[in-house]
Amino acid sequence: MDSLFHFNHSYQSLGEAFFKKVLPTPVGAPALLLFNHSLALELGINQELNQSVLAAILSGNQLAAGSTPIAQAYAGHQFGYFTMLGDGRAILLGEHISPDGKRWDIQLKGAGPTPYSRRGDGRATLRAMLREYLISEAMHGLGIPSSRSLAVVTTGEKVFREEIQAGAVLTRIMKSHIRVGTFEYARQFLKTEDLEKLTLYTLERHYPDVKVEQNAALTLLEQVLHQQARLIANWMRVGFIHGVMNTDNMSIAGETFDYGPCAFLNSYDPTKAFSSIDTNGRYAFGNQPNIAHWNLSCLANALLPIIHSDTDTAVKMATEVLNQFPSLYTQLYTATMAAKIGFDEKSISNEVIDLLKELMQWMQKEQADYTNTFLTIQGTLLPSGTYNGNSFESWMEKRNSLLSVAGINVDKAKLMMHQQNPLLIPRNHRVEEALDAVVANNDLRPFNQLLQAVQHPYDPAADYSAFQEPPVNGDGFYATYCGT
Ligand code: AMP
Ligand code: MG
Repeated sequence: MDSLFHFNHSYQSLGEAFFKKVLPTPVGAPALLLFNHSLALELGINQELNQSVLAAILSGNQLAAGSTPIAQAYAGHQFGYFTMLGDGRAILLGEHISPDGKRWDIQLKGAGPTPYSRRGDGRATLRAMLREYLISEAMHGLGIPSSRSLAVVTTGEKVFREEIQAGAVLTRIMKSHIRVGTFEYARQFLKTEDLEKLTLYTLERHYPDVKVEQNAALTLLEQVLHQQARLIANWMRVGFIHGVMNTDNMSIAGETFDYGPCAFLNSYDPTKAFSSIDTNGRYAFGNQPNIAHWNLSCLANALLPIIHSDTDTAVKMATEVLNQFPSLYTQLYTATMAAKIGFDEKSISNEVIDLLKELMQWMQKEQADYTNTFLTIQGTLLPSGTYNGNSFESWMEKRNSLLSVAGINVDKAKLMMHQQNPLLIPRNHRVEEALDAVVANNDLRPFNQLLQAVQHPYDPAADYSAFQEPPVNGDGFYATYCGT
């Protein structure tokens, strides 16, 4: 077997209005730096090719057998403002069909300019691609739907940003790259038939088991709404801040992707935003559910012409679906957070909800570490510092007595908590250290150690003490940057 992927190109059946054919631009000296063997195994990707062939294919220097590469068209609301976008530095090689018949987009990120590059160079820095590789694999390890990373190839070329940096290409894998912004593009720039075609295609690709009773567009909106509510509740569970929840970065299949300025919380603060350009905190930790709801309203707006021919009726129908979000999300979030302190769904009472609120307030006031607080509650970490104080101790007593009122066996509670509370997250200072070692010293060891750990965040047998400490000085002026 000499082809890397089993390609198919169903997206191209939508017609040329949805994409532009474009070839990756070859790079000077491709070298394979990272290859995700377990992902390759999982998806039936050929592992028999040698490193130099892999480097050539996954940098775009050699076209993968069966590939018909394209850049996808999309638009989006960026920080609230509508704009035309499209793949400016990502090229879709095709859809790989895994042995179980599933379909996976194979995309090269940083593969050179496309018709949608505007003033961009179509390239990506090694540092940003390593960061995306690490965090996307961490999210997958955390049990959260995410794009996956198959490989990082260094290009041997320089990329010009604020300073000169090394370039790289990431191979990104997703169920698809269809986004809210794809629908906004079709609504704004294409014919109603195209919007309809996209809707039916997306339903068939991502929600094949859902019966469309009457209205395909409303059915899709409802499905995406459910997926997104679940996804955001999961982000909140682990303290993940996406950082740039523009509608072009919201996947229709409910996967986390586009790991630009994302970061994990250390101390709990719902107003926390790490992204250097998010000066108003639009995408702050605690605002993510509101933004997801706002993004879904953009999807609804895009779908209006095919929800009903009468606009007022269409708006009414869409609003009814959109209005499900707050209560659905609250229910999912409450269940998630209750599980983090040992209560299953049927034992959630007003007292449990008050108990959670009290804990969140306490964490915020004490600037307590989000991850480690839950590990202390479940008994994995021994209480020290602020956890030995009266307020935390009395909270624990209240929680324990509520557990016994609910008739919950402590061991059972622990078991459930272990599945909700990761032993470690990719902490910002650890991530930066690992990236520094690769970029400055060509030393992959710290990166691989961290990667190996964050891929298995619930492993009870592992000793993660080296990765569990929050940074000594908190997050200080830690900031993340977009599009690098
Ligand atoms: P992002 O913030 O990564 O979601 O990207 C927003 C838009 O900018 C997308 O259309 C990207 O394709 C485009 N973009 C980001 N970086 C570059 C680059 N270096 N060259 C060309 N286009 C880019
Ligand atoms: Mg994007």
